[in-house]
Amino acid sequence: MKRKSKKRHQYTLIILKPDALVKSLTGNILTRLSEARLRIIAAKVVRVTPELAKKHYAHLVDKPFFNDLYEYFSGKIYGPDYERVLAFVYEGEDAIERVRKIAGATNPLEADPTTIRGAYGRINKKGIMENLIHCSDSEEAAEKEIKLWFSPDEIIEEIYPTKIVVEKNYKRRVWA
Ligand code: UDP
Ligand code: MG
Repeated sequence: MKRKSKKRHQYTLIILKPDALVKSLTGNILTRLSEARLRIIAAKVVRVTPELAKKHYAHLVDKPFFNDLYEYFSGKIYGPDYERVLAFVYEGEDAIERVRKIAGATNPLEADPTTIRGAYGRINKKGIMENLIHCSDSEEAAEKEIKLWFSPDEIIEEIYPTKIVVEKNYKRRVWA
């Protein structure tokens, strides 16, 4: 008898990359993701700096295509109106696998056509896979990525341990 593997409560970082915004697919992709029956616990718009991209794609920094990947991931190839991504943390049972399944294979030409990447992705002139969505691929990666993109106060639940630090001469911007 086939035993069902145990379901795991997981968190995953999801990023709607600039091509999702350029193609006006934000709503469509979020609707597709809602099939996974997960909950959003954090959301924001982010400008991707070289520092953030290098940390996020640490496993690709040494690849010859990294600079072209940065130009795509930051949205620079689409002009200033699209230099942004949408970042989310989703929570729920088997969140990582469920989202990866809906997203599809990394290479949009190999992705099942019913997946987000299969339906809407392409490979651009520089050879970069414009595949619309990032989603964590393991619990370890999810924790690293969520901590990189979000501070504890931006997530409505305490999903990893936090601590309080008191910073002297800490300056911050407020509404004038
Ligand atoms: N990528 C690419 N060419 C490659 C490998 C990766 O253009 O040969 C891009 C693609 O946009 C991909 C991202 O770099 O989504 C991160 O690569 P990774 O292998 O982590 O794939 P993912 O986790 O996004 O499926
Ligand atoms: Mg990856």
